[in-house]
Amino acid sequence: MPRLLLLGGTREALDLAQVASGNPRLEIVSSLAGRTRAPAHIPGEVRVGGFGGAEGLARYLEAQPIDLLVDATHPFAETMAGNAAEACREAGVPRLKLLRPAWNRQAGDRWIEVDSAEQAAEALPDPARRVFLTIGQRDLQAFARHPEVWFLVRLIDPPDLPLPLARHELLLGRGPFAEADEIALLRAHRIEALVAKNSGGKLTHAKIAAARRLGLPVVMRRRPQAPPGETVETVDQALARIAARAAEHP
Ligand code: NAP
Repeated sequence: MPRLLLLGGTREALDLAQVASGNPRLEIVSSLAGRTRAPAHIPGEVRVGGFGGAEGLARYLEAQPIDLLVDATHPFAETMAGNAAEACREAGVPRLKLLRPAWNRQAGDRWIEVDSAEQAAEALPDPARRVFLTIGQRDLQAFARHPEVWFLVRLIDPPDLPLPLARHELLLGRGPFAEADEIALLRAHRIEALVAKNSGGKLTHAKIAAARRLGLPVVMRRRPQAPPGETVETVDQALARIAARAAEHP
């Protein structure tokens, strides 16, 4: 029976595991980095924690052995995506990337597109003094250079360390968010600009639509380039490719 390694940490990976685990012709191991404190229940075998770089992952693929790797990590999980590509090359294991489409700028959007957290901090529109940050904990440090700005910071989990921002309020929450709620949130906090990553997908798009509705600027971090290779955009497309691979398996 083919054994599949599913690199997860996204809604798509969870949906994929839920459907694919019902396929009696497949064995699935889901892998999480271990960042989220209370991850959703994933059916089937689950492993948590890093592999030890591309080299460690290549050894894992060989030891299991794994017949197909599906990289369904977040579009900004750049290191893991690169490691997966390198490890699969080294171990001779086929790899499929599941990458949801990016959001596209629409009429009425006031996006300022940047390529890093540092550029995002530099590009904060002046004189925005109340800014909504939804970029994850790791990238907050870049905004410490703005003690004059008050930040509303939304994270999934409580942070491990105090936030490196002089003036802020912390909000905990996990999508999906509704547009009406996001509009109410932006109004209640008198937000003047947002900073977001172009994650794509529906779960967190409401804030972008809310900003458009209120005419607010969004400093939008562009995605890193995904490694070249076979890529699909939806869970259904990934399931079809996996089923085809399983059928080919001796
Ligand atoms: P990253 O920077 O690309 O990866 C850093 C290291 O974390 C990797 O080298 C690997 O450690 C480990 N790792 C990452 N994903 C893993 C997985 N699915 N299974 C096992 N180890 C994993 O990753 P990240 O951006 O911190 O993301 C971590 C996790 O959160 C991913 O599962 C991703 O899908 C999810 N996530 C990320 C974001 C985001 O904005 N970055 C948003 C939502 C969810 P080793 O080198 O030791 O193997």
